[in-house]
Amino acid sequence: MLIETHMHLGDTRFDEDRDVVLARAVEAGVEWFVEIADEPREWDRAIALSRARPERVRCTLGLHPYYADQWTSELGEKLLSMARLPEVVGAGEIGLDYFKYCTVPADRQKEAMRGMLACSWEAGLPVVVHCRDAYADLVPILEEFFQGKALPAGRRYFGVVHCFSGTAEEARRCAGAGFALGVDGPITYPKNNDLRTALKGAGLEALVLETDSPWLPPQSGRGKRNEPRAIAEICERLSELFELEKEKVAGATTRNARDLFALPQ
Ligand SMILES: [Zn+2]
Ligand SMILES: [Zn+2]
Repeated sequence: MLIETHMHLGDTRFDEDRDVVLARAVEAGVEWFVEIADEPREWDRAIALSRARPERVRCTLGLHPYYADQWTSELGEKLLSMARLPEVVGAGEIGLDYFKYCTVPADRQKEAMRGMLACSWEAGLPVVVHCRDAYADLVPILEEFFQGKALPAGRRYFGVVHCFSGTAEEARRCAGAGFALGVDGPITYPKNNDLRTALKGAGLEALVLETDSPWLPPQSGRGKRNEPRAIAEICERLSELFELEKEKVAGATTRNARDLFALPQ
């Protein structure tokens, strides 16, 4: 059995066939799905998506760096109150993005990230961290915030650095700070040897599977809309990388994902 720890199935590109897409993933062995809301406008949609499918889907509520200028303490209060809902298993995406498409200044991004980190911690929620071209700033913030904090009962990670794309050293530091690393489609791209080396160095105990659908299709679907059934292909590539049977990699990453989001057995 597999767990999809990061999808955006609420995206309008799934309006025509959302349940067909989920059924295809279930057929490919995916048992649980975590829907990720990137901005407050999407929070209710993510909760509704989960509420309609309580046996398979949970969600997280976030403020992606693209929307960091929407950060206010009132938003933090709203997260605290919504964290009590049974559908909500985490906070995110939150984080830093220094690639050219993100127009929010770095200082404002950091302020929003710190604010969301504090509220997530107070709410007892693990965080889903987004990082693009910003590991040098992001890793020290995580190390500093979680230093000396004890993991909540029954959890093995403070959160996940989703779609991990850093170096081997950054992978080691994120795992050392109590974070899982999200593995997506890019692990299947032929030229991504450095990424594979970094993930192998972090070890299977640090890894969870995700697709980031509709983004980041694996090699077999490049240029197309991605969907959660690609979890099976990512698992297969990971089993080649670790030279382990697929079932072993599926079992380990599924356990990690359950421990990350405290999903039902
Ligand atoms: Zn992201
Ligand atoms: Zn995402």
